[in-house]
Amino acid sequence: MTTKKDSQSHHPENAHNREEKHHKHAGELVIVNHPLIKHKITLLRNKDTRVNIFRDLVEEVSMLLGFEATKDFPLYEVEVETPVAKTFGQKIEGKKVAIVPILRAGLSMINGLTRLMPLAKVGHIGIYRNPETFEPVEYFCKLPTSIEKRAVLLCDPMLATGGSAVAAIDMLKKRGAQNIKLLCIISAPEGVKAVHEKHPDVKIFTAALDECLNSHAYIVPGLGDAGDRIYGTL
Ligand code: URA
Repeated sequence: MTTKKDSQSHHPENAHNREEKHHKHAGELVIVNHPLIKHKITLLRNKDTRVNIFRDLVEEVSMLLGFEATKDFPLYEVEVETPVAKTFGQKIEGKKVAIVPILRAGLSMINGLTRLMPLAKVGHIGIYRNPETFEPVEYFCKLPTSIEKRAVLLCDPMLATGGSAVAAIDMLKKRGAQNIKLLCIISAPEGVKAVHEKHPDVKIFTAALDECLNSHAYIVPGLGDAGDRIYGTL
């Protein structure tokens, strides 16, 4: 019997080789490498990490991914007066942002991102998989106005087969979104490939690129079912 578990030890350092392989197909993947992220991802992977800590870690990693994903936001110069002297500073150029989580696990990434961008609007996308055809079916979509002018940060903690992410990007583009980045805490090479084959313009930001999917479409080594671990529905 195949289970979600796998007794073999999977070394995350092989991510570098996987990244090299990934570059064979179009589309950009950014693996956000930072000691804080690696530390927090290790805590997230641990099956004994409790729900309250798990939620906090997801928020923190989401914030760190958001930090990287907003690196290209344009700036303009302003004058500012400190208590000591006048000087020049920079501000973000009226960038309209839409944070769009894919229900339900994506909801856990909102707080970390709105801490960074308090004025960002939040949309929601709901997709389920038809149990017979395995095709993704959209059941909810509510997006902020002027989605075509916004930088869209689409969030889902786990990029597994890529089916939901591809469907969510289709939905966003159908409604006019032009600038979409996908933020995932853990990604599988299969999901990255699926997204980039269909949407090579969508840059993916992830905290870890894992080895593969198992026969249940769980990411190996992954962290299990993100939604269940966030909401304590295990
Ligand atoms: N969704 C999850 O929550 N975990 C996986 O490993 C794959 C998909």
